[in-house]
Amino acid sequence: MINLPRSLIRLGAQASSKQAAIEQVAALLAGAGNVDPAYLGGMLAREGQANTYLGSGIAIPHGTPDTRHLIRQTGIAVLQLPQGVAWGEGGETVRLVVGIAAASDEHLDILRRLTRVLADDALVEQLSTTADPALMQRALTGEATAEESAAPTRGPDLPFSAQVTLPNPLGMHARPGTMLANLVRRLGARVRVEHGGQSADALRLMELLSLGLKRGSVLTVRADSEAALGAVTDAIRAGLGDDLSLAAPAAPVRREADWRPAQVGATIEGVPASDGLVIGETRVYRPAELHVTDQPGEAAAQAQALDDALNAAAAELDGLIEQQARAGHADRAAIFRAHRELLTDEGTVQDAVNLVLDGHGAAWAYQRASGERIAQLQKLDDPTLAARATDLGDVQRRVLRRLLGLGEDHPEGAAPAILLAPDLTPSDTARFSEGSLLGFVTAQGGPTSHTAIIARGLGLPAVVAAGTGLLDVPDGTPAILDGQAGALYLNPSAADVQAARARQETLRAELDRARADRHRPGATRDGARVEIAANINRAAAAPGALDAGAEGVGLMRTEFLFLERDSVPTEDEQEREYRAMAGALGERTLIIRTLDIGGDKDVPYLGLEREDNSFLGLRGIRLCFERPDLFLPQLRAIVRVARDHPNVHVMFPMISTLEDFRRARALLDDVRAELDAPRIPLGVMIEVPSAALLAPQLAPEVDFFSVGTNDLTQYTLAMDRLHPQLARQTDAMHPAVLQLVALTVQAADAHGKWVGVCGGAAGDEVGALILTGLGVKELSVSAPQIPAVKAALRQHDLATLRDLAARALTQPDAASVRALTRTLNPGEVRA
Ligand code: PEP
Ligand code: MG
Repeated sequence: MINLPRSLIRLGAQASSKQAAIEQVAALLAGAGNVDPAYLGGMLAREGQANTYLGSGIAIPHGTPDTRHLIRQTGIAVLQLPQGVAWGEGGETVRLVVGIAAASDEHLDILRRLTRVLADDALVEQLSTTADPALMQRALTGEATAEESAAPTRGPDLPFSAQVTLPNPLGMHARPGTMLANLVRRLGARVRVEHGGQSADALRLMELLSLGLKRGSVLTVRADSEAALGAVTDAIRAGLGDDLSLAAPAAPVRREADWRPAQVGATIEGVPASDGLVIGETRVYRPAELHVTDQPGEAAAQAQALDDALNAAAAELDGLIEQQARAGHADRAAIFRAHRELLTDEGTVQDAVNLVLDGHGAAWAYQRASGERIAQLQKLDDPTLAARATDLGDVQRRVLRRLLGLGEDHPEGAAPAILLAPDLTPSDTARFSEGSLLGFVTAQGGPTSHTAIIARGLGLPAVVAAGTGLLDVPDGTPAILDGQAGALYLNPSAADVQAARARQETLRAELDRARADRHRPGATRDGARVEIAANINRAAAAPGALDAGAEGVGLMRTEFLFLERDSVPTEDEQEREYRAMAGALGERTLIIRTLDIGGDKDVPYLGLEREDNSFLGLRGIRLCFERPDLFLPQLRAIVRVARDHPNVHVMFPMISTLEDFRRARALLDDVRAELDAPRIPLGVMIEVPSAALLAPQLAPEVDFFSVGTNDLTQYTLAMDRLHPQLARQTDAMHPAVLQLVALTVQAADAHGKWVGVCGGAAGDEVGALILTGLGVKELSVSAPQIPAVKAALRQHDLATLRDLAARALTQPDAASVRALTRTLNPGEVRA
């Protein structure tokens, strides 16, 4: 059996010609001591006699018989050329070059295997692009080498597996990837994640990111124990620390500008990344280019230099994490924590070390190893994941600066300016101190990049992807940057500058007013009350929600008590949490929604049957009917709390028939009788079209309805709410969805009941206006959205909103509904 050690595999290589490819593969064999360097001559001569193209993009260069004496030890080396190289006269492109040095006929074994590989197109494709050397080893020699099998996550047997759908709005990016790696490390487990025929070690962040996982991707998780599998799949389902209530980012759309200058020299347009309007002078910032040449040295010294640079970079990042955390910027700290993980990515470091051992200089080796991964991410057909390449580039630069003995980059200038840059890394943005910058525009980048997230956190206007022409703007050019419109206006007239100042004042006043008025009761301009509540799941979040202006809690998703752990919370544990929440709210309403498991929320330790259509199966109340062992203890916990806290309301999710509601209510009544508790205000969620159509029958029997627009949209339009390609169409402002809300409100009104909305549409300013116009009396939104929703409502009279809603119902699609709100006259109300 021929051995194929890791050092004889070079993945992701490039070669400009067949000769260059043969030179590289010969160098691998010579470097490992298998052949004398002169063997290359034999390989080239052999190629001159007959082309060694084997088929399916594989070539097997080897020496002539008269150079066999130059072989010291039989072996093979593999050069993977994902971009291919032209091989023979027949125009064949080769992507796998298997260099053979066979002193006897041992190479026949490898040829046999290669013939098997040739017959398998998918395998050839995989081997030509894989970043996993073990895959190559297994395919060509039948097993991973001892060094690989001994590696903690490379064992062949990960017998426990499960499928899970990725719920993260931004897909698998560095932050959740870091959470996953940390979890696996804590568990001491071996876990792999598979998707689309590719597989990644959960401990290797780069491998994980390279899978290109998007919201809705179905992954197979394999683990070495059932407990690890459960913990990992649970954590993935719970979002790995990401806020799952955010909508998936739609493709960036330039919004209608609220303000436009009349006379400017030139306009540079990009993609809006962070709102705000500033006036100032421009300054171009180009980080110094790092010139890395290969300066081979003694391998041990180079390896030491690399190690020192990695340690120094780690210390810098630790400092940044601490500094950001101390300043209360948890989001920024999390970004640098992800950088810390990227820095220690095992695959990158291992490749760099291998290159060093092959005789390359440390800086060249690290640039090459990390550069390959950056290129891989940039290639992924997804702007969000490609944006992660910027993070990796940032880490790369941090290490290279150390290796090259260069100082820090300094994006800040003497006076605050509008910064124009090719791109900015999170490290650049973290260096901006308060007031040192007016805003920035980048030639590249995307609105979901971490840089954009940091800009929003800093409250700086930012525009990205404005094109490289931006960098030709001379420093000191007077300009106006409008983050909302995604535009940089150059050389504006004096009148425009004045108009921009006035607009700035208005915006500042609006923001201050919204913040200052956040504790005022939610209402339209003419005083029609609309209660603005918060969607929170835990008592610990209550003080923050109240401080943001919440008038109550319109949705407590109790399933999170189950999702964030690995066993069913006991009745007592649940009671404690509900009691703490009810107590924290005082007199304010608390709507506890009973368990809504199923669909995208699976709880592995419950051992539920897998369903083909989980969103249409035993979900929400249907599951509760099947599992009284879960439902009854929950009802008892809620009822005990309700006995002492009259602010507690209960609502049932996924009600689709009248029978559903009556059956659930009967169970609650039994529990109340058992515990001698009074009546509890009771509602149903309207999130299935049948429930909206049945609202006239349900209304006399309920106390309130709460519309779950996330599911109502999904079920009305038959569009999976997690589907990445449908994300832009799954808009609750679709008139078909609004018709169902209107029906619900009419039915409730006829029986003196009220309707709230707790789905995402309630926190969208357009949604808030239209839903209010439809007659909704309560909007339950995520806490940070509260001041803006209240402010938006205060700008309009109820009659205006009613008229708007009536027109919305007759529109052909969601985009037309959204366009209608632009016809409202904000000036009328801002006065
Ligand atoms: C909804 O469907 O709109 C809703 C609020 O419930 P969830 O998002 O928890 O399914
Ligand atoms: Mg729902």
